[in-house]
Amino acid sequence: MSKTGLSLIDATTYAPTVPECRTKKDCYSCSVKPCVYAVQTHEAVRLIQAGARTTLVRQLTKLPKKYVNRLYHLLTGHSSPRGLTQFTDAWFRESEHRMLQASTVWRIHNLVEPLGRSKARILLDVYDVYLYSVNKPLLDITRIVAVLKLVKASVWESRQCQHCHKFYLTPVDENLGDTCPGCRIYYHFRCVLCGAALAIYTLGRPRSACEACATQNNK
Ligand SMILES: [Zn+2]
Ligand SMILES: [Zn+2]
Ligand SMILES: [Zn+2]
Repeated sequence: MSKTGLSLIDATTYAPTVPECRTKKDCYSCSVKPCVYAVQTHEAVRLIQAGARTTLVRQLTKLPKKYVNRLYHLLTGHSSPRGLTQFTDAWFRESEHRMLQASTVWRIHNLVEPLGRSKARILLDVYDVYLYSVNKPLLDITRIVAVLKLVKASVWESRQCQHCHKFYLTPVDENLGDTCPGCRIYYHFRCVLCGAALAIYTLGRPRSACEACATQNNK
């Protein structure tokens, strides 16, 4: 299977969960071993189908290397790229849209994490909700892991936007005036002061004020 997770709306074609076990929440500590294996394997399969590499699958499910490699080969027909992707935020910083979706991922994670599921299940749930939440997903599952790592390592922090008052993620070394990526995109097309739509011909040029503001100030 090629890595086409982004073009599909469902992260995987499998059922979202195995039947609930009596330990509820995280079955990884379940006393019935076959139950644990079933849950771990199911999560591993879904992770692989969502585009996760074997290193990540092993980290999250705690399944043995050989077993995960075999699963990966069975499902994809080839072996997994080695290692994890680079731990850097350069790719995100290239685009406001990527940063905006990173904030979306982080907000979804904050809702999903307290439910106390396994690490694999949390990631899968975040990924599924993310795919349903955005029109055009830009982040694959590896990038989603990167977002969560960047926050955990304090490379990124959350700030509150002064315009829309939502919390968003930003690199700690960046100071863009407490404006979220969503509002930054919005104000490419709207006046910061009065909210009027900017005339097409002023787009891309340095602007001190929009036409509406200029008219008002000249009165
Ligand atoms: Zn169980
Ligand atoms: Zn904002
Ligand atoms: Zn204006």
